[in-house]
Amino acid sequence: MAHVRGDEANGPMIITDPQHMHRDVLAARSRGRRVGFVPTMGALHAGHVSLVKRAAAECDDTVVSIFVNPTQFGPGEDFTRYPRTLDADIAAVAGCGVTWIFAPAADAIYPNGWATRVVVDGPARRFEGELRPGHFSGVATVVCRLFMAVPADVAYFGAKDWQQTLVVKRMVRDLGVPVEIAVCPTIREPDGLAMSSRNAYLLADERSRATAIHESLMLAERAWFAGDDIAAIEHAMRSHLAARGVAVDYAAIVDRESLEPLSSPVANAIAIIAGRLGTTRLIDNHPLPTRG
Ligand code: AMP
Repeated sequence: MAHVRGDEANGPMIITDPQHMHRDVLAARSRGRRVGFVPTMGALHAGHVSLVKRAAAECDDTVVSIFVNPTQFGPGEDFTRYPRTLDADIAAVAGCGVTWIFAPAADAIYPNGWATRVVVDGPARRFEGELRPGHFSGVATVVCRLFMAVPADVAYFGAKDWQQTLVVKRMVRDLGVPVEIAVCPTIREPDGLAMSSRNAYLLADERSRATAIHESLMLAERAWFAGDDIAAIEHAMRSHLAARGVAVDYAAIVDRESLEPLSSPVANAIAIIAGRLGTTRLIDNHPLPTRG
């Protein structure tokens, strides 16, 4: 790929060197341009594209990073089989107004002898943090490293990974990283399944049963508005998932900022689910509007 200036005619410029990326972003900002950043692990789908389009609409230049981050996968997780589809990813964002694609090699992000990690407590403690030890430390570490390479004005994350957005916001606040965090809505398949790079792992039968996750979130919303208590709603979500053969890691209603039990039975709630179909683990969530 030629290192041409990214524009609509030539497509984005592909950059692999973090220092080069840093230089280009700072140069754009020094010309008064607002720079948006969308960090991804590639295998781009319409969910990612929605973040990219929002960044391009709100900013003068947009960076999309593609990096399958080894440190956020636990032993036995899907790091080696995670889809790597750079050419298709470049095509997926063609025409979306992306200036740069940042696709570093692993040793550009984690240099030989690498010994530094970012550890977030608080919102990282429960749910994904409990079930995937080290996951959020890997996320916080790579996001911090990427923010060093891409000193953007604003970075875009998906509400699909709700707990991750809380962890990133806390890391940015605690370390004083000078970037705004924008959270964008979850994009779904027509049947409600949240788009995810991991949906590609699902066998046909698992794919049809995976709709139970979104169904459970909708069921939770109806029960929430009917005035049911939290324990009863959580039980109903778990029953529906189990009935469709989804192995439940958690199905909970918690405070959407702290992920702790609700302090008010009517406001700031979110329903969150993680479940497994065969070897595929999926997560989803749905914020619950204030009830009367
Ligand atoms: P990933 O490549 O899975 O690390 O995701 C990169 C970014 O895209 C993260 O901020 C995700 O939350 C976001 N994302 C993933 N799936 C969706 C979706 N279905 N809708 C909106 N954003 C998403």
